[in-house]
Amino acid sequence: PSAMREVMVQMPNIGWDDIGGLDEARDRLREGVELPLKHPGSFKRLGIRPAKGFLLYGPPGTGKTLLAKAAARESQANFIATKSSDLLSKWYGESEQQIARLFARARQVAPTVIFIDELDSLVPARGGGLGEPQVTERVVNTILAEMDGLEELQNVVVIGATNRPNLIDPALLRPGRFDELIYVGPPDTAGRRRILAIHTEGMPLAKDVDLQLMARNTERFTGADLEDLVRRAGLTALRRGLDEAQVTMSDFQTALEETRASVTEEMLDDY
Ligand code: ATP
Repeated sequence: PSAMREVMVQMPNIGWDDIGGLDEARDRLREGVELPLKHPGSFKRLGIRPAKGFLLYGPPGTGKTLLAKAAARESQANFIATKSSDLLSKWYGESEQQIARLFARARQVAPTVIFIDELDSLVPARGGGLGEPQVTERVVNTILAEMDGLEELQNVVVIGATNRPNLIDPALLRPGRFDELIYVGPPDTAGRRRILAIHTEGMPLAKDVDLQLMARNTERFTGADLEDLVRRAGLTALRRGLDEAQVTMSDFQTALEETRASVTEEMLDDY
């Protein structure tokens, strides 16, 4: 049973406006990915070497995948998403082939953003990763060789993501590899307000709904937590009756009682 997977090229429909908070991460991806992919000539003229690899790190559900998709979309680049568990095959040589296919396809449809999620699982099993030591080492080396082989201005950038940055193989972080580290944390109050606005866009809200107050009462909620909160508020309204026309503040309050921040203080200490 081969684990070889088709390399799927996407054109994401997520833009910077669909992401709340994370202004600093967005600005760094704009400058690091969007600018060089859209204006390679300007970089060449000035002799600037754009970065090839970015590492987004932070707790789950904070918007790392969204950021990578928006970076591709706003650069008018193609997007190829994979995760390291897809690249780990116990069949000899298969991981290398899969990675080679991934990068070949990316070059073929360039400009391209390659997104590799779960980059931390590329450590040997005894280190908390998924694979056999020899397999993960070969996978890491193959990815590094492919990245080293990406010529500057070749219009392919790689964005990796992890929830556990301290497990990342240091070889991946050397210059010319994933050398731009970008923290993606839980949003602040203004970010939460914006995320609530984004996720209630298609929802008829009663006049008493105060998203600012909800934002203040949802400390440490991630974007994914807030999306869940909005969904639950909608379901609470629906429970009142199937032709309920609006979601009220009390629906949000009920939803808030059912929900908790997925990120704890202690988790944040790790970043
Ligand atoms: P993981 O580490 O688990 O892969 P992630 O950081 O990649 O998580 P996403 O997959 O980008 O998180 O986010 C999950 C969902 O949560 C998104 O599809 C989106 O609906 C919502 N979300 C997360 N962060 C934001 C944000 N900053 N703005 C708007 N929506 C968000």
